[in-house]
Amino acid sequence: MYRIGQGFDLHRLEAGRRLVLGGVEIPYEKGLLGHSDADVLVHALMNAILGALGLGDIGTHFPDSDPKYAGISSEVLLGRVAKTMRQSGFEVVNADLTVIAERPRLTPHFGVIRPRLARVLDVAEGCVNLKANTMEGLGPIGEGLGIAAQAVVLLEK
Ligand code: MG
Repeated sequence: MYRIGQGFDLHRLEAGRRLVLGGVEIPYEKGLLGHSDADVLVHALMNAILGALGLGDIGTHFPDSDPKYAGISSEVLLGRVAKTMRQSGFEVVNADLTVIAERPRLTPHFGVIRPRLARVLDVAEGCVNLKANTMEGLGPIGEGLGIAAQAVVLLEK
């Protein structure tokens, strides 16, 4: 049995915050604003997995009104989503992820992010694909005000 899921997320960039993407801190003058570490890439991935499982979204599972999720590592939350997935009898076939950011350049960091996400999902590195897009300077992301991410996953039981 196969299930497909897609996820999307967007966070604002603000000064004085760490930029964490795919569980990795990336040197930049701004970071993503959010209740957790605001790891937009991991949030999109979690939403895709939860979507494939028919289990809603991360806002339901880890509400940002709950103080226990303040500043929490999204990678830890991804581990919990992966555990829920395995308990439902599913495993990841592949995940295809796109980060949409004008700055900073992200592809140099993919070599670190990719094996890290693959490890949390318990799949081979080749099963997790990362892509980076700019918005060609257009719109709020193009102006560098935020970063968005999209994810598609296929699960198999
Ligand atoms: Mg988010």
